[in-house]
Amino acid sequence: MSTIAQRLSEITTTLPEGVRLVAVSKFHPVEALREAYDAGQRIFGESRVQELIGKIEAMPDDTVWHFIGHLQTNKVRAIVGKVAMIESVDTPRLAGFINRAAADAGVVQPVLLQLHVAQEETKFGFTPDELLDWLATDEWRNLTSLKLCGVMGMASNTDDQERIRQDFTLIAETRRRIVEAHPDLADTFATVSMGMSHDYLQAIACGSNLVRVGTYIFGERT
Ligand SMILES: *Cc1c(COP(=O)(O)O)cnc(C)c1O
Repeated sequence: MSTIAQRLSEITTTLPEGVRLVAVSKFHPVEALREAYDAGQRIFGESRVQELIGKIEAMPDDTVWHFIGHLQTNKVRAIVGKVAMIESVDTPRLAGFINRAAADAGVVQPVLLQLHVAQEETKFGFTPDELLDWLATDEWRNLTSLKLCGVMGMASNTDDQERIRQDFTLIAETRRRIVEAHPDLADTFATVSMGMSHDYLQAIACGSNLVRVGTYIFGERT
């Protein structure tokens, strides 16, 4: 068994029922994705539009793509309808752009709303209050070509386990509060995407049902 297949199997055997794995393949060559695909992995995460487009063309048609990086508005049209999920919707403006592009393409684009809870200042995303406030305006109801599927976020990059637990709990809790405020979202706003190579087990313990693991599967990015 290849290392990639072995790592995948290690992870998938530890995933509880109902938790899905995004294999984060950014910066890794198609051959590496192919190995993961051959081992049964179907969902891949990419963070750059050009790289993603090339990989979509190179990989089998039933590969499932999640876009997980910061998405510039001028790149939206290149990926709408081609990815199963845009996990990184971080402003109302970007949501509007994706909605318009999806409407023009005649598709409904599933998305996650990205939360910023980590202590790093450079990360993108809504704060929990910003997201709750925006959703309270009901503006999103006009975005009929978007399907709001849940939230995505990252914990602080720290060794402080308590802080990591707090960050993950806040992300999961924010999803719960959103559904409480908008009960008609309950059926669809179900995804909590959190947890990476070094913290995915903690994320699951705090309510993640979609983990995004790269380095542990594919090795260091070069
Ligand atoms: C790169 C990346 C990951 C994967 O991180 P690893 O530490 O390599 O597992 C997960 N989520 C996002 C948003 C990323 O950009």
